[in-house]
Amino acid sequence: AKENGKNGFRFYNCELDQSLARKLAIENELRRAISENQLSLVYQPKVHLITGEVTGVEALLRWNHPDLGWISPAEFIPVAEETGQIVSIGEWVLREACIQNKKWQVAGFSPLKLSVNVSVLQFQHENFLLVVQSILMETKLEPSLIELEITESIMQNIEQSLKILQSLKNLGIQTSIDDFGTGYSSLNILQKLPVDTIKIDKSFIDEMEYADERPMVKTIIDLGQHLNLMVVAEGIETESQRQLLVDYNCKIGQGYLFSRPVHPAKFEKLYLTKKWA
Ligand code: C2E
Ligand code: CA
Ligand code: CA
Ligand code: CA
Repeated sequence: AKENGKNGFRFYNCELDQSLARKLAIENELRRAISENQLSLVYQPKVHLITGEVTGVEALLRWNHPDLGWISPAEFIPVAEETGQIVSIGEWVLREACIQNKKWQVAGFSPLKLSVNVSVLQFQHENFLLVVQSILMETKLEPSLIELEITESIMQNIEQSLKILQSLKNLGIQTSIDDFGTGYSSLNILQKLPVDTIKIDKSFIDEMEYADERPMVKTIIDLGQHLNLMVVAEGIETESQRQLLVDYNCKIGQGYLFSRPVHPAKFEKLYLTKKWA
């Protein structure tokens, strides 16, 4: 842009202004998002890659702003992380997801493990464990029906993270390493982490159409199995991806091939079954 002289520079600046303005708007509007009921959760099934049976579900956050419309979590979560707003938003998400899971249970659907995304900032916040415990008490949901998805970035603060993971385990809550393979994992730390699952990031699944990228996926699956971890693949869009994952001995996956994330009523209709039916 420098070589384009004055105009190029101004253009660049203007783009920067726009994205900054958008960020500030998001930051501002996010303050009222919870109190004005603009946030909601959608649910995407985790399925057994051979039988197609629904084995769990992930809650994903949605934001519908009255003027700005739908804003993607990929856009607003990073802003919320920067400002610290993620702590209260994350608490809202966990409570809402637990309330929903309890509702399904009370309505007589077979209990399903519900995964909730937890930002590293939220995870390392001093009140996190207290918040988790109070939500469990409020909702009377069995801890075994919750799984928290956290990213490898927790490893930057490994001593503290180990303690939190152990406390969650003691509470009976399961944990999963999300976006596995994209972050800071050191293999020798992975071995020490009291987690239950690793989730192979979509970027690796996308690359599976190229034969020379497949050994990476196979290696992650093998690694998980050697460490006695469950391995989940995310972002499965094609039948050939599903077939390859089955060949590599990956049992559970998620993706548009099976279902997009859907609203709770639709999830109920499509993927839940009554215990006594
Ligand atoms: P993630 O946790 O890795 O979630 C997977 C994302 O991929 C979701 O996007 C999901 O809708 C999308 N996805 C699932 N299957 C497919 C597929 O087959 N193809 C494609 N193209 N996409 C698929 P979403 O819902 O937009 O969320 C984006 C990211 O935002 C999430 O990535 C997660 O990092 C973050 N996020 C979403 N909800 C929450 C939340 O409640 N708390 C936190 N801290 N982060 C959240
Ligand atoms: Ca996730
Ligand atoms: Ca991901
Ligand atoms: Ca993620």
